[in-house]
Formats: sequence, C-alpha cells, structure tokens
Amino acid sequence: AKQQGRNNFQFYSEELTVRSAERMALEIALRKARKNEEFELYFQPQIDIASGRIIGTEALLRWNQKDQGMIMPDRFIPVAEETGLIVGIGEWVLESACRAATKWNQDRKQGNVKVAVNLSSRQFIQNDLVGDIVRILEATQCKAEWLKLEITESLLLDDDQDILEKLTALHGLGLEISIDDFGTGYSSLSYLHRFPVSQLKIDRSFVRDIPTNEDKAELVKAMISIAQALHLTLVAEGVETQEQSNYLLANGCGVAQGYLYGRPIPATAFEELLQRQGI
Ligand code: C2E
Ligand code: CA
Ligand code: CA
Ligand code: CA
Repeated sequence: AKQQGRNNFQFYSEELTVRSAERMALEIALRKARKNEEFELYFQPQIDIASGRIIGTEALLRWNQKDQGMIMPDRFIPVAEETGLIVGIGEWVLESACRAATKWNQDRKQGNVKVAVNLSSRQFIQNDLVGDIVRILEATQCKAEWLKLEITESLLLDDDQDILEKLTALHGLGLEISIDDFGTGYSSLSYLHRFPVSQLKIDRSFVRDIPTNEDKAELVKAMISIAQALHLTLVAEGVETQEQSNYLLANGCGVAQGYLYGRPIPATAFEELLQRQGI
C-alpha cells in the first residue's frame, strides 16, 4: 500500500507538472496575442421576441491562436484575470466593440443596436476604467448609449465605495449597466437599489430547464417580478428552443439571446445579418 501511495504521488505530481507547463505556455502565448492580432470579437444577436428584430448584440472574445486554432474564453479568460493581462485585453475589447457600434449605428434612422461588452472585476480594480472608456468613446466616435457594460453580481457584493463611484460615473456618461448571469451569485438583492444598474440577464442555467422544470420556471418568474418591481429591463440568455422563448415572452421577459436566434459570429457576418433585416 505504501508503494502504491508513492506511485500515486508520482503520478499526480507529473500530472501537475504537465498542467503547469501547459498553463505557462498559455500565459506566454497570451502575452503576445494582442500584438500578433490574434484576438477577434464575435457578435451574438439580442432579439426582441415579439417582433423578431435584432435590438442589440453581445461582443464575445475569441482567440485565434497561431498553433492551436481558436481558443474559447472559458480557457483563457481565467488565466488573463490571474495574470492581470485582462486589463490590456479588456481595453482592446472595448475599443473594438465601440468601433463596431459606431459603424452599425451612425447611419441608422430607426433604433439602435446596442453592443454589450463583458467586464472583469480586475478592470475596475486595477485601472482608470472611467478615463479609459471616455477616451475610447471619443477616439471611436461611439456614443455612450450604443454601449452596454455587463458585470457580474460578485463585483457588487463587498459594497466597495470605489466600485460604486466608478459605476456611477459610467452611468452618468450614459452607459447602460447590465447584471450578467443574474441569479447565480449571492442572493442579496439590496445592491440592485444602491448601484446604477438598469438590466438583468437571466442566466442560462435557469433558461435551460424552462418550462418543464417547475422550480426553475418559478425562479425565472421571480426574477422577472424583481426586474419589473425595480424598473429594470431583462434579457434571457441561452435561449435554445421556441418553447423557452414563448414562456419568457408570456411571462414578461421580451428580449432573448441564444442559439435559437443565432450563435456568436464574426463582425462581417453580423453586419450582413443587420443588413438582411433592413435596418
Ligand atoms: P457569458 O458572458 O455568460 O456569455 C454567454 C456565453 O454563452 C457565450 O460563451 C455564448 O457563446 C454562450 N451562449 C450563447 N447562447 C447560447 C445558447 O443558446 N446555448 C449555449 N449552450 N450557450 C450559449 P463564450 O463566447 O464561450 O463565452 C464564455 C464566457 O467568457 C462569457 O460568458 C464571459 O463570461 C467570458 N467572456 C467572453 N468574452 C469576454 C470578454 O471580452 N471579456 C471578459 N472579461 N469575459 C469574456
Ligand atoms: Ca456576458
Ligand atoms: Ca451571461
Ligand atoms: Ca452565463
């Protein structure tokens, strides 16, 4: 047994070494990615369910890695956050998203296509985020009302004065703030009053199981009630079936994002989608 224990130890230790080597290789490649122009934004439509029209889009980061092909954000965002690289990457994301928003909105006669950008907590903590966003809006000629910032509940939990001030300043510029993955974080709702939040995104883990799972269906209804009581707008994420979409609309959530309406696609393809819609 002792012998086996030692073998086990060696096995795990080798595995750990392989893993940390992989992690290090990823970090090294990530440090060069921006300069090598390996990042790309994909765009997924947000749909007004009743009319079927595109009213917005979420910008989702893709990494076209030279050797490995496309790497998805779930693999590299955590590394980018741990290393602080997310601050520079996030700046690139904001600038690219704003450039796209300007292109798609400046000549439109009716309604905007709002571009939503995901922000990591690190971007609030490390950086002059407000100053950066002001500069980027200016440089790209993007109006604040064309941009939406998606943050997660965890950013609001420790009731940080600095975070409150930054969000208030961003809201003051005219930016919309949306709570991503709503319902998955710690369930104190008082922050919805204190922070200048205007939208909730119902997390896919709830949407996935409606309408058949009664518990999830009740939770979705409860989230819709909260949004209505606090005058917040709603987006449901991960909508994959017509039944889910019908249920959401019938219960008061009028905006959906998910594979039913379209996967994330490159900017040029998204632009064609907008043109086909004649807007
Ligand atoms: P998220 O913000 O919750 O984004 C939604 C994710 O769900 C996206 O995955 C999207 O492709 C996927 N999705 C959309 N509709 C459906 C559906 O109907 N079914 C299913 N199964 N999935 C759907 P993606 O693009 O892989 O992004 C994963 C996460 O990476 C995002 O989750 C977000 O947290 C993070 N992320 C992506 N881009 C950025 C970025 O620019 N900055 C930061 N900080 N994080 C990002
Ligand atoms: Ca998001
Ligand atoms: Ca989300
Ligand atoms: Ca999610």
